[in-house]
Amino acid sequence: MEVLNLIQGKHVSAKGGEWLDIINPSEGKVYGRIPRSGAEDVSMAVESAEKAFKCWAATPISVRSKCLTRLADLVAQNADLLAKAESTDNGKPVSLANSVDIPRAESNLRFYSSAITHFASESHSMEGVAINYTLRKPLGVVACISPWNLPLYLFTWKIAPALAAGNCVVAKPSEITPVTAYLLSTWVKEAGFPDGVFNIIHGLGTEVGDALVRHPKVAAVSFTGGTATGAHIASVAAPKFKKLSLELGGKNAAVVFNDCDFEEALATTIRSSFANQGQICLCGSRILVERSLYPKFRDALVEKTRNMQVGDPQDPSTKMGALVSKDHRDKILSYIDIARQEGGKILCGGTATTPKNAPHLSNGYYVQPTIIEGLDFDSRVNMEEIFGPVVTIQPFESDEEAVEIANSTEFGLAATVWTKDLKRAHNVAAALETGIVWVNCWLLRDLRTPFGGVKNSGVGREGGFEALQFFTEPQNVCIKL
Ligand code: NAD
Repeated sequence: MEVLNLIQGKHVSAKGGEWLDIINPSEGKVYGRIPRSGAEDVSMAVESAEKAFKCWAATPISVRSKCLTRLADLVAQNADLLAKAESTDNGKPVSLANSVDIPRAESNLRFYSSAITHFASESHSMEGVAINYTLRKPLGVVACISPWNLPLYLFTWKIAPALAAGNCVVAKPSEITPVTAYLLSTWVKEAGFPDGVFNIIHGLGTEVGDALVRHPKVAAVSFTGGTATGAHIASVAAPKFKKLSLELGGKNAAVVFNDCDFEEALATTIRSSFANQGQICLCGSRILVERSLYPKFRDALVEKTRNMQVGDPQDPSTKMGALVSKDHRDKILSYIDIARQEGGKILCGGTATTPKNAPHLSNGYYVQPTIIEGLDFDSRVNMEEIFGPVVTIQPFESDEEAVEIANSTEFGLAATVWTKDLKRAHNVAAALETGIVWVNCWLLRDLRTPFGGVKNSGVGREGGFEALQFFTEPQNVCIKL
């Protein structure tokens, strides 16, 4: 598998001629390479985007919209290929890639293909004196930087609104999972995008990503990834007055009250804990259960989790696949050690493993789904993002205590609340310091809603018209009557 950059409509390797390995995490084996791009490649990509900008910004919305629809059609036509590629690159079960990642990537493209045709700006009348109207202008060249956990899903979530709004894009997918963005790049011309409008460059975040953020001609950076990286990007981009959208880490609470629908809360909490091996920024990693329900809920959760087996990600029946990399697996195992040192009791899991009867997967990166109890709410394991199949469970006495524990971390991305009491649901949801609250559900997504976090989980919102607002600059025009 050889991945190439897309610059000015051409597939090219890095100017410096260097390459980086890509690894299949289910086997722990190198299976391809990507260009190790640098500042020179960034300059070429930004120049090509800059050249294309005037024409793309003036291209009718209906034409921009059609290009996105055609790209969505190409994603749909190649859905099986993309799902297999995502599973190989990331270690996620192919069933998840088939049912979530690739359909959602297609939806992102279709959504913004349509949203741009409904996007409008305001007019303010100064009765009889003047009329103001707001123009929404594209920004120019924008950078879209995405992570490895939902590779094509989060990549398209950024590039679709950016392109729809009339910007030219230089996008950088994660070096750990570059393949589906590369496959997408092979259909950009066929979809009708003029050369230079949509460029994709590959390589290390600290090299090519950093050069992209620093480039003086990049007007905005839309970033999804870790909080430390987001802070670094902000420190580079803010003094240059670039627009910034940061979607960062989480440490989400699942708050389970004793009046919940037990079976639904249980089944969904299993999913919100371990889907994609716990590597979704929206996964609930701290399960808080009302004391009177605690023993019953904990025991049922542990029993169901014990029955979950890691398997070959390419096997359609597998529900738990591999972690994305050796480093990430080791980080997760180190947190399980920290939990032991902090006095936590491992109720299930707790070790690395490999799928049964699959010798070819014996060097892959797998960890058993793990539940830990007995940790203080402010222990490191309850405060720091682990981003793997590891959750803690803890009891609470009252609504107030549940909210206090849920809000006790530096993060504020999402939460779930499980109760049949409507008044309690409203009160608890409003008191939670998060950008998103799901009541009696999880990951139910309407793409029109604002998406993002507060505190160390980010700045700004994606989704709906929020992303189109981010990727445009308002200009007020005041006309005296
Ligand atoms: P990461 O921060 O290591 O990398 C994200 C992207 O940034 C990659 O493309 C990487 O190459 C690039 N990058 C790294 N250093 C850079 C630099 N100095 N300058 C520019 N770009 C740089 O994150 P990750 O490990 O790929 O992803 C996991 C993290 O992402 C977790 O913390 C998770 O919570 C977070 N995440 C957040 C959301 C959200 O919507 N809030 C969604 C998914 C993942």
